[in-house]
Amino acid sequence: MRIVALAGGIGGARFLRGVQAAAPDAELTVVVNTGDDLTMYGLRICPDLDTVMYTLGGGIDEERGWGRQDETFHAKAELSAYEVPTAWFGLGDRDLATHLVRRQMLDAGYPLSAVTQALCARWQPGATLLPMTDDRFETHVLVDDPDTGKRKAIHFQEWWVRYRAALPAHAIVAVGAETATAGPGVLEAIEAADVVLLPPSNPVVSIGTALQVKGIRAALTAKTVVGVSPIVGGAPVRGMADACLTAIGVQTSAEAVGRHYGSELLDGWLVDTADAGATVAGVQVRAVPLLMTDPAATRAMAQAALDLAAELA
Ligand code: GDP
Ligand code: CA
Repeated sequence: MRIVALAGGIGGARFLRGVQAAAPDAELTVVVNTGDDLTMYGLRICPDLDTVMYTLGGGIDEERGWGRQDETFHAKAELSAYEVPTAWFGLGDRDLATHLVRRQMLDAGYPLSAVTQALCARWQPGATLLPMTDDRFETHVLVDDPDTGKRKAIHFQEWWVRYRAALPAHAIVAVGAETATAGPGVLEAIEAADVVLLPPSNPVVSIGTALQVKGIRAALTAKTVVGVSPIVGGAPVRGMADACLTAIGVQTSAEAVGRHYGSELLDGWLVDTADAGATVAGVQVRAVPLLMTDPAATRAMAQAALDLAAELA
């Protein structure tokens, strides 16, 4: 069986571990969000690609959910000692090595997709990780500057990590969306897929970004697509996805997110048992437990998504 999943970082990566446990013989391809990527200290930081790679490759810090296990932050402390204004963004010392390899390969002319493949040669994530695009695509957020009150666009990471999404977002802007094309192999993988899964990743800045890359949404409409709600009982399970949904005028509920994706994209929509009764016109909605509390629960969630896909195919 060929499975394709779109994914962001932590929510996506954890769910994908469940997919691998539920369908160990399946060929899994993950189309990873690159809208969070940014350049800092000259390094190209790809939070979601690295989270998926480290999680599936066994290198993740399980508690934090991002970055390397057994990590130290000496370089970050040194940057703070220099009063570098961007020290709000922490790159661990082990993680730095990944970024130096990526910088060196990008400088040598390799596209991000080739760099990702090279990094995965070490981590062996058991899945093919494809950046959604090799082109520049950055999510920016329109806010009022807390110091000057002036309206300005800041990078999504600054809004998310530095301001904890607490600055009201007037708009979420995908820089590069008009021209970005799907990365090598992305449309081909979707075309060849038996089932496409939308993990419980952020519907706006993780999945919504990939859907804006030319060709991806159109390729998905021909497929059996099953999505998993990241919203349980009217709130995100983790993080501040509600702030992103509010910015695009979507209510923070499993039903509203399902309707936002809509029947053109979705065939099936999994909601938590707390949200049983949710309806989405033209979409088969099923309620099952959706909390990834341990490997068995996560595997059962993935199995439920695959079962629903099999019924709808
Ligand atoms: P990020 O890029 O690290 O923010 O990760 P993603 O976009 O892949 O996933 C973030 C989403 O995962 C959040 O909106 C969470 O609500 C969701 N999430 C995290 N843990 C769980 C869980 O156990 N169950 C469900 N249903 N969603 C979860
Ligand atoms: Ca992310």
